[in-house]
Amino acid sequence: MESGLYVVATPIGNLGDISRRALDVLAAADLVAAEDTRTTRHLLAKFNIDNQVLAYHDHSDARAAQRILDCVAGGGVVALVSDAGTPLISDPGYRLVRELQDAGQAVFPIPGPCAAVAALSASGLPTDRFLFEGFLPGKSAARQARLAALAQRPETLVFYEAPHRVLECLDDMTAAFGADREALLAREITKAFETLRRAPLADLQAFVAADGNQQRGEIVLVVAGQRQRAETIDDDSARLLRRLAEELPPKRAAAVVADLTGLRKKQLYDYLLQQG
Ligand code: SAM
Repeated sequence: MESGLYVVATPIGNLGDISRRALDVLAAADLVAAEDTRTTRHLLAKFNIDNQVLAYHDHSDARAAQRILDCVAGGGVVALVSDAGTPLISDPGYRLVRELQDAGQAVFPIPGPCAAVAALSASGLPTDRFLFEGFLPGKSAARQARLAALAQRPETLVFYEAPHRVLECLDDMTAAFGADREALLAREITKAFETLRRAPLADLQAFVAADGNQQRGEIVLVVAGQRQRAETIDDDSARLLRRLAEELPPKRAAAVVADLTGLRKKQLYDYLLQQG
């Protein structure tokens, strides 16, 4: 195996999701650098791997990083793992990866489970563009400010959330994004009590509020982006608008068509004025 740092994804629940390559690297590595040594020893034991595990997180003292650098510089293989999922995704490792690359050493990804991608893949929400937000601030004023800043983003939004805050968070999302914005609650993905539920935010909030079990375990929230309004008025909308304007004041007709089509009310109103 080529010398370097191997960034190894591990299961987020179901151990069957470990890849063959991940197991090969974890078994062959000279050193396994882990966010939490106990969690990783436990994982390795499940696969009968008995290897040297070193604690590493982004606030580790320089000695841990140096040991990893020395090992790789000496032609060795280091596997970096987090407690679950893909390292560096709301998990430690960023500084280490940079340090190794800056020192001219190779860094290899060993891809696998990631809660954000798993939730997105089964969300039923658009995935062509998404924005990974990770954890929102814990304090409500800061969280509300962050959500307000995201309210107009067109991309699907992906959040990690702690179970004891999920209800507050859904309250704040409903206020910031509107009760009708679609969202997915993805809870305990790949585990025994896996829940995937897509609904408008207000309904999702009511669902979680009514069932204490939904406020337990690990949670990803995926929220639809702000719907983009079409720029041009298509023929059908224009015909509908003109017909309605025969029965209703122009502002009212524009509001109804805006509601039905997602077109901007002002644009529709201006169109009616232009028609005379
Ligand atoms: N690096 C990990 C990954 O690739 O998904 C994420 C680590 S982050 C510290 C932990 C958060 O990921 C949890 O609080 C939860 O939001 C999400 N998460 C992890 N496992 C999950 C699961 N099985 N189901 C739902 N969310 C999960």
